[in-house]
Amino acid sequence: MSTLSNSLHAADVAHSIHPYTNARLHEEQGPLIMTRGDGARVYDSEGKEYIEGLAGLWSVAVGFSEPRLREAAMKQMEELPYYHSFAHKANEPAIRLAEKLAEMTPDGLNRAFFTNSGSEANDTVIKMVWFMNNALGRPEKKKFLSRTKAYHGITVASGSLTGLPGNHRDFDLPIIPVTHLTCPHFWRNGAEGETEAEFTARLLTELEETIVAEGPDTIAAFIGEPVMGAGGVITPPQGYWPGVAEICAKYDILLVSDEVINGFGRLGARFGCEKYGFVPDIMVVSKQLTSSYMPLAAIMMNDKVYNAIADNTAKLGTFGHGYTTSGHPVSCAVALENLAILEERDLMGNAARLAPLFQEKLQALASHPLVGEARGVGLIGGLELVADKETKAAFEPAGSMAARVVKHAQEAGLICRNIYETVALCPPLMITEEDVEIIFARLTQ
Ligand code: PLP
Repeated sequence: MSTLSNSLHAADVAHSIHPYTNARLHEEQGPLIMTRGDGARVYDSEGKEYIEGLAGLWSVAVGFSEPRLREAAMKQMEELPYYHSFAHKANEPAIRLAEKLAEMTPDGLNRAFFTNSGSEANDTVIKMVWFMNNALGRPEKKKFLSRTKAYHGITVASGSLTGLPGNHRDFDLPIIPVTHLTCPHFWRNGAEGETEAEFTARLLTELEETIVAEGPDTIAAFIGEPVMGAGGVITPPQGYWPGVAEICAKYDILLVSDEVINGFGRLGARFGCEKYGFVPDIMVVSKQLTSSYMPLAAIMMNDKVYNAIADNTAKLGTFGHGYTTSGHPVSCAVALENLAILEERDLMGNAARLAPLFQEKLQALASHPLVGEARGVGLIGGLELVADKETKAAFEPAGSMAARVVKHAQEAGLICRNIYETVALCPPLMITEEDVEIIFARLTQ
């Protein structure tokens, strides 16, 4: 190891605690320090090359070396590095970005509120929905419906919406009123002999029965990722989303589409809700919004939500919510440039064009003795590993085999991610056909 690597390793082990990391194991093995990016590739402090099979954290659409994003950030830094959005203040990039998102997102989602992260955005959604229902004189209508294996963030409230045991255990979550419904994963949760259509019907019945049992007047919103990402890349069964949307509308329950991973072309369509044929009341985007070069998330809402909130601010005198860096001009300038690149280079189209090859390569691994299910859509995929293909029994201890596969893939020069027993892939939207071949060659190796 070089002297620089050595000193960085030592300093990291001495002074940092990492997200989603076993701290004691980290003290033993130290960090993998990335020092450089080039297109779909990143290089560590020893100069080793990796193809980024997860686009960082499902987020770097344009690759790891886009000069236009650097220049957009520098230009904004020079002109106005910071201004806030409180009390009628505004900045040009934030205004332009809200306008751009209103144009790009499905009809009706006309307003944007900016936060720094997806978690903060979902926290804000919860507060907006509560604020709205208090204003409408229905203070009982506060509960959220989510699903097991959902990922909506990690703050106290958004972490409550998340439906993964690792995000609840020993954190005393969930803490807000939320009911987690069955994860819409047919291969894992379908009953013996049940067809996919029957599975969908059963989940929709569960949804409606839950609403009726708990009382429609107590349920404010249903939140879901069109394709679940951090819960293990779970694609919905046929007819699920239109069914959910219909039931939510019937009981006056807001539908929130969490598109933090799905948004901006990941699924081969612009947004997940468009892919699966439903129109949400609220949509949350982040990650590929700036390719994660700068922290930013946006909550898009329709006029029904906006007007209820706006009327209440007129009554109370203010909307008592917002972050110091809401609508940060540098983040918004980078987002605008990133969206311009997505459009000019047709990177969402590129994802759609490469999807058949990517999915074919993924499915080719379905017959591997370790693979229980290969699943995905667009440029996202997961391989769920099993100890026994017949019984679908997972390896013991949970997640151990996927962790081994990911470790070996890393040695072979591929970064991917293990989520419990699933190996997840979600490469940058700018990858080439050759990159897809390399990703699967290294994974297979
Ligand atoms: N929602 C979804 C669907 C996500 O995948 C994530 C992060 O992966 C979040 C919310 C939380 O975003 P953040 O990590 O920026 O807080």
